Amino acid sequence: MIYDIIVIGGGPAGLTAATYARRAGKTVLVLEKDAFGGQINWSPRVENFPSHISISGVELGDMLLAQAMEQGADVELEEVCGLEIKDGIKCVKTLSGAEFECRALVIATGAKPRMLGLEREQELVGNGVCFCAVCDGAFYKDLPVAVNGGGNSALQDALLLSEKCSRVYLIHRRDSFRGEAKLVEALREKANVEFVLNASVTALEGEKELEAVVVDIQGEKRKIPVAGLFVAIGHRPDNAAFSGFVELDDAGYALSGEDCRTVTEGVFVAGDCRRKSVHQLTTAVADGSVAALAACEYLG
Ligand code: NAP
Repeated sequence: MIYDIIVIGGGPAGLTAATYARRAGKTVLVLEKDAFGGQINWSPRVENFPSHISISGVELGDMLLAQAMEQGADVELEEVCGLEIKDGIKCVKTLSGAEFECRALVIATGAKPRMLGLEREQELVGNGVCFCAVCDGAFYKDLPVAVNGGGNSALQDALLLSEKCSRVYLIHRRDSFRGEAKLVEALREKANVEFVLNASVTALEGEKELEAVVVDIQGEKRKIPVAGLFVAIGHRPDNAAFSGFVELDDAGYALSGEDCRTVTEGVFVAGDCRRKSVHQLTTAVADGSVAALAACEYLG
C-alpha cells in the first residue's frame, strides 16, 4: 500500500500531524523508533500546555497517541534508517528491513539528549550517568545525585529527584538559569537541593559505577560524591538519514519555511528537528498541524 502521508516520529509534532492529516481524509502511518510521546515522556509534570493545568508527560503523550489512533492513523514501532525517492514516491526504510511507501513525508524526529563529552561518560551510562530523571530517578532513592544544566529539563529533573534522593546538586555553568523562574524558586525552597553555579563538570570518578563528579568552579576544583549524574544540557537533532533530501544547518537542524516545507517536493519537517527560534511543546504541536496541512495541500 502507498500511504498518502508517512510521519516519522511519534512525539507531539508527529502525532499532531497524524491527527490533522487523518481529519483531512488522508491515509497516514506514523513510525516511531522507541516510545510514542517522544521527549515529553521525560517530563514529570507539564504545566505550560494550554488546557492542562498540570499533567504528566507520559499521560499527555498517551493522549496524543490515542487521539491520532482514534482518527484512524496506523502506527508502527520501527526505526527509520534510510529514505529513497523515485517518481515522487517516498520509500522509507527501517532497521528491521521493512519498507513503507508514501506520497508525502513529514519528518518529526525530535532531538536526542546531548552528552558532556567527558572521558568515561559513555561507559558510565546506566551506571550513574543518566539523561532522564523520570525514567531512572527511582534507582537513586535516598542517594546523593547531581543534575547538570540550567534549562527547564535540568530544573524539572532536580525538582523530581529532590523528592526521592538524599541530596541534589544542581550544577550549572552560569549564575542564572535559562529555565523558568518559578521552577528555580521551587528549588530554592528545597532543603536538600544545593546550587553549584559557575561550575562545569570536568571528570567522572568511580570504578564500575559513578561515585563522584569533579567540578571546576571558576578555577577551583571540588569533588562531589554522588551516585548519579543527570545530564540535562539540551538536545541535538538526529536528521542524518535525511541529509540528502533536506538541508541541515551546522547543528543538524532541518531548514524549512514557516510552512514546514523543505527543498524536496512532498517532504516536510515538524517539531524539534526543525530549525526555529522556540523549541517548545506548543510549537511542536503547531508545527505538526502546519506540516500536515501543507502535506495535504501538496497531495491535492
Ligand atoms: P535548554 O533549554 O537548551 O537548556 C540547556 C541547558 O544546558 C542550558 O542551561 C545550557 O547552559 C546548558 N548547557 C548546554 N551545553 C552545555 C555544556 N556543554 N555544558 C554545561 N551546560 C551546558 O534544554 P532543555 O532544558 O532540555 O529544554 C529544551 C526545550 O524543551 C526548552 O525549550 C525547554 O523550555 C523545553 N522544555 C519544556 C518542558 C515543559 O515542561 N514544557 C520541560 C522540559 C523542557 P546556558 O544556559 O549557559 O546556555
